[in-house]
Amino acid sequence: MSGEEEQEQTHCGFIAILGAPNAGKSTLVNRMVGTKVTIVSPKVQTTRGRVMGIAIKDHVQLVFIDTPGIFTPKRRLDRAMVAAAWSGASDADVSLLLIDATEGVKRDAEAIIARMKGEHRRAHLVLNKVDKVDKPELLAMTQSLMEEGIFDEVFMISALKGKGVDSMMDFLASKMPEGPWHFPEDQVSDMTERLLAAEITREQLYHQLHQELPYATTVETETWEERKDGSVKIEQVIYVIRDSQKSIILGKGGKQIKHIGEKSRKELEEIFDRRVHLFLFVKVREKWGDDPERYRDLGLDFNA
Ligand code: GDP
Ligand code: MG
Repeated sequence: MSGEEEQEQTHCGFIAILGAPNAGKSTLVNRMVGTKVTIVSPKVQTTRGRVMGIAIKDHVQLVFIDTPGIFTPKRRLDRAMVAAAWSGASDADVSLLLIDATEGVKRDAEAIIARMKGEHRRAHLVLNKVDKVDKPELLAMTQSLMEEGIFDEVFMISALKGKGVDSMMDFLASKMPEGPWHFPEDQVSDMTERLLAAEITREQLYHQLHQELPYATTVETETWEERKDGSVKIEQVIYVIRDSQKSIILGKGGKQIKHIGEKSRKELEEIFDRRVHLFLFVKVREKWGDDPERYRDLGLDFNA
């Protein structure tokens, strides 16, 4: 290079985040990206498709793949989610296995470890939720997990509080291969705004409704209308399987849906940083769980 300053070589790579449902995978991805790109809830299996969150550290672009938790698949939707999680891991340069340290290694985590061993894959071990667990317990857990022989490094973090996350990101950045960035500098996710908006409402369904009902729902953004004043009008349909579910979501005098809409709108305004007019509709579509198009929308393989 004749007299010119040498340009720093860019690096870019994919990091798959594996772990049982509720381990904190989505919380971690949002934390590392610095904004919400994937939804979080205390109920298991909230993340359905594969979501990419994109972060930059100096000259390195890190692309995180938030996977649905891996569990024993029963329904078609579950099978598609498990397939998405594994294909996320096989595309990646680095895999992290996230363990909820308050729970330890249970059936789901065991199944992931067994499968990784079978496929001769390696990963880094991440003990999450250390804000809730004592040191001696963490050390014992680390020791027994390292005996599995598939982990290189160990990180102890709190995705929720941010503890230990920065230094883990520095480490990950140092492992990314040389190459051009895959995404523009300002892109934080591979999700469209319409899909993210639908996910935000779906997240509220998980927060506001009890028990199993949220699992029977799906949300679609039907209209996205830019207004001259900078606001946006969003119309969404919440699909349910049965009539009885529809009345629960609507609530007495429409109170429940109003509450859900209110919460979702506030969140949308924060994420998109603009005023939002949100209109929610509830429709019964008995077989949405068997509708190939829904799977494509979510980036899932219908035939998994
Ligand atoms: P996922 O199913 O693995 O994607 O898990 P989520 O990110 O949806 O998180 C599941 C639950 O664990 C949520 O209620 C989170 O707030 C909570 N959580 C995630 N990370 C932490 C953490 O570091 N500490 C604590 N105390 N809770 C956490
Ligand atoms: Mg998740």
